[in-house]
Amino acid sequence: MKVIVIGAGISGLIAAYELERSGISPILLEGTDRVGGRVTTDEVDGFLLDRGFQVLLTAYPEAKRYLDFEELKLKKFDSGAIILNPGSSFTIQDPLRQPSAMLGMAFSPVGTLRDKLKIYKLTKQLSKKSIDEIFESNDISTLAYLKGFGFSDKIIDNFFKPFFKGIFLENELSTSARMFQFVFKMFGEGFAAVPEGGMRMISEHLRSKLNQTDLRLNTVVEKIEGNQVWLKNGEIIQADKIIIASRPDRILTQMEGQLKPYRFVYNLYFSLEKSFLARPIIGLIPDDKFLINNIVFMTDVSKTYSSNKKALLSVSVVKKVENPSSLEKLVSIELEALSGISSEYFKHIKTYEIKEALPDVDDMKSNLPFTNSKVYDHIFLAGDYLLNGSINAAMTSGRKAVEAMLLTIQDPH
Ligand SMILES: Cc1cc2nc3c(=O)[nH]c(=O)nc-3n(C[C@H](O)[C@H](O)[C@H](O)COP(=O)(O)OP(=O)(O)OC[C@H]3O[C@@H](n4cnc5c(N)ncnc54)[C@H](O)[C@@H]3O)c2cc1C
Repeated sequence: MKVIVIGAGISGLIAAYELERSGISPILLEGTDRVGGRVTTDEVDGFLLDRGFQVLLTAYPEAKRYLDFEELKLKKFDSGAIILNPGSSFTIQDPLRQPSAMLGMAFSPVGTLRDKLKIYKLTKQLSKKSIDEIFESNDISTLAYLKGFGFSDKIIDNFFKPFFKGIFLENELSTSARMFQFVFKMFGEGFAAVPEGGMRMISEHLRSKLNQTDLRLNTVVEKIEGNQVWLKNGEIIQADKIIIASRPDRILTQMEGQLKPYRFVYNLYFSLEKSFLARPIIGLIPDDKFLINNIVFMTDVSKTYSSNKKALLSVSVVKKVENPSSLEKLVSIELEALSGISSEYFKHIKTYEIKEALPDVDDMKSNLPFTNSKVYDHIFLAGDYLLNGSINAAMTSGRKAVEAMLLTIQDPH
């Protein structure tokens, strides 16, 4: 049985792994020079730069299934976040993990005391709800959900908006409350972490689990016609089954125009002599006048992100900018306002404009019925856009595509 998987992102790597487990040796075609797709890291001037600030949530069920956390040498973030405003900063803690922090928070201006008790209640409530229950719940916006839960505008603006803007990559909290509850639950039940050597370690780790897969890098698929996979280099490969683990709308005429535009983000990296947060924690900038939404000193999380002892700062901007070439300057001025450190000390390393960061999914789900993976008896789909934009979803979709494919072999009708 000749099976071709198109795309060696997380979903394609999992699909190849699951195929191997069922005794099939697939061909895995990847258009770029590496595996991992959106989960990758570059080495620039002695720094490790993840392409877009991302974290692995250790509570992801799929991560527990497929990843060896010890081998990845995961480095954890402190729970909660620091809220940064010019001239002041406050920490918001996870009340379940650090109940004693509630007292300190009671006096912080991030929200009202009632808000802080509600955070506790929400965390408790979500710990009792299963992931499937969450994804079957009402499909309202995150903002409507938070208001309905009784949170004040103060805590929504100070904490929930900047925190979840950085995750959903949209400014209105219009993303489904299903995703909000899922992510909030995952943050409550595990840790946010990055592998010591950058997010790419996750992709490399999955690749290292493949023994029977014929991985072909720098191999762009142009189109699929019937059972034929047409490559950009002119080659045509005949396949019995094809799993598309990349955007299907670009290679399958029947799927053209079926995906909504993706969400974007700018990710800027700066080096500095020393971290001004000095903690492995996410810094949030609630003030809407700022371009910057969130910052993290990656070297506070894992020292390996720098080979020269300098601190590495990752900055995320979720707003569209008219003139992206001015971004570096504008952001360094904002960093000066937030930290009190002159902008000239922030040395710009690189700016990523990630145009297709997250899919915009209408009906977010945690699981896939076989019918959703199958296009024809010989073509199957994998990818985060089928469920929700996360590493967890990408992994689920890879496995489900293989399960759907195997069903057509066992029961061709
Ligand atoms: C900035 C950013 C922040 C994120 N933050 C988080 C986070 O904190 N936590 C989290 O869980 N998730 C996060 N995500 C989402 C997560 O990275 C994705 O959901 C996941 O990586 C998607 O995997 P995938 O396999 O579905 O798609 P992709 O990673 O897009 O993989 C598709 C692969 O197919 C290849 N390909 C495309 N077209 C072709 C072709 N024609 N021929 C051959 N190969 C092709 C691509 O090169 C790529 O390798 C973030 C993503 C971004 C970009």
